[in-house]
Amino acid sequence: MKDIQTVSTSWTDLTRDSAVYLLFTFSAIKVSQFIYTCFQSSEMSSFSMETHPEALRRERILSSKLYFNVPESKVSIIYSSAYDISFMGIEKLHPFDSTKWRRVCKFLVSDGFLEEKSIVEPLEASNSDLLVVHSLNYLNSLKSSATVARITEVPPVALFPNFLVQQKVLRPFRKQVGGTILAAKLAVERGWAINVGGGFHHCTAERGGGFCAFADISLCIHFAFLRLSISRVMIIDLDAHQGNGHETDLGDDSRVYILDMYNPEIYPYDYSARRFIDQKVEVMSGTSTDEYLRKLDKALEVAFRNFQPELVVYNAGTDILDGDPLGLLKISPDGITSRDEKVFRCAREREIPVVMLTSGGYMKSNARVIADSIENLSRQGLINTQLDSTST
Ligand SMILES: [Zn+2]
Repeated sequence: MKDIQTVSTSWTDLTRDSAVYLLFTFSAIKVSQFIYTCFQSSEMSSFSMETHPEALRRERILSSKLYFNVPESKVSIIYSSAYDISFMGIEKLHPFDSTKWRRVCKFLVSDGFLEEKSIVEPLEASNSDLLVVHSLNYLNSLKSSATVARITEVPPVALFPNFLVQQKVLRPFRKQVGGTILAAKLAVERGWAINVGGGFHHCTAERGGGFCAFADISLCIHFAFLRLSISRVMIIDLDAHQGNGHETDLGDDSRVYILDMYNPEIYPYDYSARRFIDQKVEVMSGTSTDEYLRKLDKALEVAFRNFQPELVVYNAGTDILDGDPLGLLKISPDGITSRDEKVFRCAREREIPVVMLTSGGYMKSNARVIADSIENLSRQGLINTQLDSTST
């Protein structure tokens, strides 16, 4: 009996121990499930916050320092000595005049159209600013000097340590990007702005090329959408080359209208990007000034009839100039002055803010042509580069 009782007691103990064990195990599983769920949901929420591209883009644009207030003592001409590229002399291996930007401003100052102290110096676009359009993968790819060598088309750049390439090549580009972005803010405030630089119209969010490492036009427009409450932008791209960068990035955005007048017989032969051009005007090698300006008149008329922009971004490359080894067109210096005047007249008469970027055209003669054209815009009263004595 005792034995039976002992067995019975042991059995009861065993059952109780098992129940406690099972209860403990069950509770432990439930608690760990709860902790896991909590952890997972918090991770998911921060994950979705971090990866939602629109939310992140918005946050980056709103926290950017590139849109600073420009005092009235400055005119809407943007430039920095940091724009110019000097790389221990190897920049001379490139057919480009890598100090074009400085020389344009020098002419404007020496001709009495501009005071050096009234030029606006932009900030350099940070990584966060560039990520508004570019992917991290793309920005990381620039940590390879070989990639930068391909983009700038200067093979020896591949041989230099990347920190030097960042400092000597990419920093000037970042500064010019800062200038293009700021130009839209200034244009909206004052009617017009000229970035004496920028216009890197071959670079897309994911790929640089043709001397264009950052997509300043796409960036400028995304900033304008959000910070300036702009909802319709017209890109007028009159560089000799097709603007495949902004076309790829913005071509399917109904808020953007693209007029591109380019030579289809030269780089970049980007047929898929051509599908995104709203108004395509192809000008073949050897096109004369008269023919070019006739086509431009018609194109501008159609563009402004079809689309009413709140901002015009004018990519005013001067590689259409007669003798340019890349553009292969035959437009005279006066033809370029007329071209710029026509675009500014179209925008200013309709009271549409206009941003001008100097883009391609890197022969030694281009700086003089650009300066002459800006001086003509000033003489025509389409821009005002002289400050009133009351505003200084
Ligand atoms: Zn070009």
